[in-house]
Amino acid sequence: MTTSTPPLLQLDALRVAIGEKTILQSISLDVAPGELVVLMGANGSGKSTLGLALAGHPAYHATNGTARFGGADLLAMEPQDRARAGLFLSFQAPPEIPGVKNNLFIRTAMNAVRAARGEDPQDAYDFLGSAKAAATTLGLPENMLNRPVNDGFSGGERKRNELLQLSLLRPRLAVLDEIDSGMDVDGVRAVVELVQRLRSEGTAFIVVSHYLQLIESLQPDTVLRLADGQIAERGDITLAQRIARTGFVQAPELAEA
Ligand code: ADP
Ligand code: MG
Repeated sequence: MTTSTPPLLQLDALRVAIGEKTILQSISLDVAPGELVVLMGANGSGKSTLGLALAGHPAYHATNGTARFGGADLLAMEPQDRARAGLFLSFQAPPEIPGVKNNLFIRTAMNAVRAARGEDPQDAYDFLGSAKAAATTLGLPENMLNRPVNDGFSGGERKRNELLQLSLLRPRLAVLDEIDSGMDVDGVRAVVELVQRLRSEGTAFIVVSHYLQLIESLQPDTVLRLADGQIAERGDITLAQRIARTGFVQAPELAEA
């Protein structure tokens, strides 16, 4: 008898609408623990829509199909319960939360997921130690922990702050939506190192990116191209390389010519 790891995420014919407008027609996708999937697609093809729908953004409605996470019905769960179950989304455009201190925000989130995993909470002192260490690794000045969440942060600093959350929350599945956009070369290197470390511990990833150098560094198991509300192509790194060479507009048969 063979034992295979059941998928962590199972999407079956998932349809997503914003208001009356269907954005994703039918998405079927399995992601196993530790698997890394790169999601590509032209601007407006629905990559962010998929991440936001999985995270439970209230404006994004699943109108058909199913989504299971760790065996549970993801669509029946509140956003905070999806996060507690180990789902993490880094936003393409991380919002500012004026008045909420970054360290309290991250510690509260971290202790909520720790409680869900049956782990003891971290007190302010211990948290600050691990948060400062993680911030240093990510090249984020320590004083950013004392500022309101993303308030006045540059684009690249916001993305590093998303990485800080990822590093401390240690999710089961992380959706990284254009994490590299606005980041300098050291930031991109920090992404690769953090993803490799978490992946070796079993975290699965869905990475949205247009940047071939990052995609190659991540050594994805699977590369997907989203078009017309569905997964138009599935492949390996050679799919990402072809897209980087010829773009999204050309038909594959022309691209090969
Ligand atoms: P991508 O991340 O692939 O660039 P998005 O998921 O952001 O694409 O957007 C997919 C489509 O959904 C786009 O055509 C976009 O204009 C549309 N869209 C996104 N948000 C809304 C919204 N709040 N209301 C209506 N349409 C939206
Ligand atoms: Mg997007």
